[in-house]
Amino acid sequence: MRIDIFTLFPELFAPALGSSIVGRARRRGLLQVCCHQLRDFSPDRRGRVDDRVFGGGKGMLLMAEPFARGLDALAGHLGALPHVIYLSPRGRVLNQARARDLAALPGLVLLCGHYEGVDQRLLDEYGAEELSIGDYVLTGGELPAMILTDAVSRMLPGVLSDESCFQEESHFSGLLEHPQYTRPEVWRGRAAPPVLLSGHHERIAAWKKQEALAVTRQNRPDLFVKFAGEDSRS
Ligand code: SAM
Repeated sequence: MRIDIFTLFPELFAPALGSSIVGRARRRGLLQVCCHQLRDFSPDRRGRVDDRVFGGGKGMLLMAEPFARGLDALAGHLGALPHVIYLSPRGRVLNQARARDLAALPGLVLLCGHYEGVDQRLLDEYGAEELSIGDYVLTGGELPAMILTDAVSRMLPGVLSDESCFQEESHFSGLLEHPQYTRPEVWRGRAAPPVLLSGHHERIAAWKKQEALAVTRQNRPDLFVKFAGEDSRS
């Protein structure tokens, strides 16, 4: 998969996307990440990309044209424009199911907003999907773009050693993950649940399911109700 990112701060991406699982995926050629400096596409000689908001709102807004020039150049280079996503607190909140669907695409273009965001006409012109990483407002779209890239890339075939790695994790089935333990068996007087050391696979699986249900009900009643509804229909 190839992910193109348009941003005012391309230098922020190298540390976050250069190490660990995402970095390894890039070195193995499973993922290509290309960061583009938005100012390079400004029609203005000084690289200006923002202007005042029409209607008297506070702050500055990123203009449509620098992004559009970047997107058109990319479309010319690739032969077609991949799916365009604008990271935005107004968007639908990213979840595991959407990340999984996005991982099936050959490429993505991520637009990072800044200041008050971007001119709406850019989003309309390119049919951009708006995705949020949560119900709070950040300074820019860079951290959200890194989060989306990380969430998507770990579901690309071959990135994790085994697909069961993410299939058993929180959110894949609609439940949160059960608690996990490692050595020592007793730590500061707290023993790991004996069933996990029993070697009895069926009992271990039943314990994991029961704990996943319990932690989901306690931490995310919204997910629990949804899961229980879907489970009773299946
Ligand atoms: N004026 C915008 C609003 O009220 O919806 C907020 C702009 S925010 C200060 C600047 C940029 O940060 C946005 O254009 C977006 O790209 C990014 N951003 C902020 N919060 C985000 C979130 N929760 N999810 C995704 N992107 C976010």
